[in-house]
Amino acid sequence: MKDLNFALIGVAGYVAPRHLRAIKDTENRLIAALDPNDSVGVMDAYFPDAAFLVEFERFDRHLEKLRQNGQKLHYVSICSPNYLHDAHIRFGLRQRADVICEKPLVLNPWNAEALQRNEVETGQRVYTILQLRLHPVIQALKTRMAQQAVQKHEVDLSYITARGNWYYASWKGEMPKSGGIATNIGIHFFDMLIWIFGAVQKSEVHLHRHDRAAGYLELERARVRWFLSIDEKTLPQAVREKGGRTFRSIRIDGEELEFSEGFTDLHTESYREILAGRGFGLDDAAPSIALVHSIREAEVLGLKGEYHPLAALPQGRHPFK
Ligand code: NAD
Repeated sequence: MKDLNFALIGVAGYVAPRHLRAIKDTENRLIAALDPNDSVGVMDAYFPDAAFLVEFERFDRHLEKLRQNGQKLHYVSICSPNYLHDAHIRFGLRQRADVICEKPLVLNPWNAEALQRNEVETGQRVYTILQLRLHPVIQALKTRMAQQAVQKHEVDLSYITARGNWYYASWKGEMPKSGGIATNIGIHFFDMLIWIFGAVQKSEVHLHRHDRAAGYLELERARVRWFLSIDEKTLPQAVREKGGRTFRSIRIDGEELEFSEGFTDLHTESYREILAGRGFGLDDAAPSIALVHSIREAEVLGLKGEYHPLAALPQGRHPFK
């Protein structure tokens, strides 16, 4: 599908250019964008002719005017902070458009259930970005795992993506707005693990702080020790010496899976899949939303039981406390 009209909410942020590019690469057009922050020079590289508004009410009025003039809005793309997603999705559905919303689609299972009812009421669809499911290495892993007879694989997942002090001053550092690190950063990996190894049977949390979290998951076909961190001091020495800020490791039954490359165009690929009728919707997102919600609510057990070895690393203080 091409030549479709898009509107975008949250166009001034970090991830928005990947959506602008995906809209362009799929031969569609942006007709309007909203952001309370007007640092949106990036639009020139993609859609200089699109309307840009900093006030929601004017954005709403503009879309209504286009509608009354017979211009159909096909999709609303959402790149706003996590806690605003469900309200922005509802706005998109009320515009009689389908919605493409960033991860995590919503913060709580009941938000997703409400959106399911909104889909039925409006007859429109909600899609989300779960780009790891489109990563060739992860797809090959899923195929390989499905062919093996092993009852429970032993998995260690470590994902360290260093963030500076700005993170704690932004909405991303606020639990009610981002959901905290397990939700905001971990959701990609939790979705991937459930997608490959099946439903969650047991979940324990050993550590859950502003800058790191660790726990243990029992899935239908895997036992997973997981560790997530945004503290650069938790990066392996070899990564730090090379000036790197990210470390991704998945060890399955003692074997390392290499998947550092291949992340660049996955938003465009996500859009292609959605436009071809193969997008991931509310049902696909639900299991990982339920898991991250339960992780947020869980009692933190400390270093007991099946904890990830990196959970024992020394912990620093919150930079602003
Ligand atoms: P960001 O803070 O850089 O951008 C968010 C933007 O939303 C900002 O420009 C902000 O001004 C705008 N905004 C705030 N309130 C708004 C409102 N009421 N209406 C409209 N716009 C509003 O954050 P980001 O890193 O770009 O993240 C945006 C979303 O994308 C989040 O949900 C995040 O989890 C997700 N994300 C996904 C990936 C991925 O790999 N799929 C990567 C990064 C971020």
